[in-house]
Amino acid sequence: MVALKVPVSRSLLHLMVDGAAQLGIIVSECKAQQFGLYLSELLRWNSSINLTGITDGQQIIIKHFLDSLAYLKVLELQGDEKLIDIGTGAGFPGIPLKLVSPKLQLVLLDARIKRVAFLKHLSRQLKLEGVLCVHGRAEELAHHAQHYQQYNVAVARAVTQLDRLIALALPYIVCGGRLLVSYGAQIDRQLELAAKVLDEHSAALEKVAQVKLPHSNEVRNIIVIRKCFT
Ligand code: SAH
Repeated sequence: MVALKVPVSRSLLHLMVDGAAQLGIIVSECKAQQFGLYLSELLRWNSSINLTGITDGQQIIIKHFLDSLAYLKVLELQGDEKLIDIGTGAGFPGIPLKLVSPKLQLVLLDARIKRVAFLKHLSRQLKLEGVLCVHGRAEELAHHAQHYQQYNVAVARAVTQLDRLIALALPYIVCGGRLLVSYGAQIDRQLELAAKVLDEHSAALEKVAQVKLPHSNEVRNIIVIRKCFT
């Protein structure tokens, strides 16, 4: 077992396991330890580089880890899909998704180099395989052969409004692939903005799923956009 530099209590690990169970996800003892290490490293690095405004362990578990796992309520992964997390910041939602779906081929993309340095460090600490941490702007990397239409799924959280996100993400996705974005309770405006650009990107709104965030009164709306076959 890895010695945590910032100790994480049993009750926090229990909160993680219980919250995941509320989402229908089994987090084993060993997985819970990995989330504990993630939490510990996030807090440690956050004291020198700005990774998150949330600094309370319990709130990190709810608002970052469980909030990220909420995507699985709609994602229904087969296992080894290629997934890109655009504007991942400190790894949300990508790393929690990878921790519970180890076969996922994950690319974490962010424009801020210090955040990417954290992600590389964290991937090593967590001994994650099949994770690539990429520094750059989404609009610039989209047309590189390595990324253009290479992903079954793109995800994003708290990056930008939905019309801009569609323009940023759709080039990465294979025909028939999906973009999943999570927003809070108010999504009418986002859907209005999206409606104006979906055709232009050969995409369609597939569904909006409401998920209650465990250990909280908040609700998330997960918007699923499907890139259509042309
Ligand atoms: N998804 C994370 C981070 C949200 S903050 C979370 O939910 O916690 C938004 C992040 O998107 C920042 O880290 C910022 O650097 C990144 N970002 C914003 N625009 C971007 C772009 N065009 N290309 C790549 N990353 C971008």
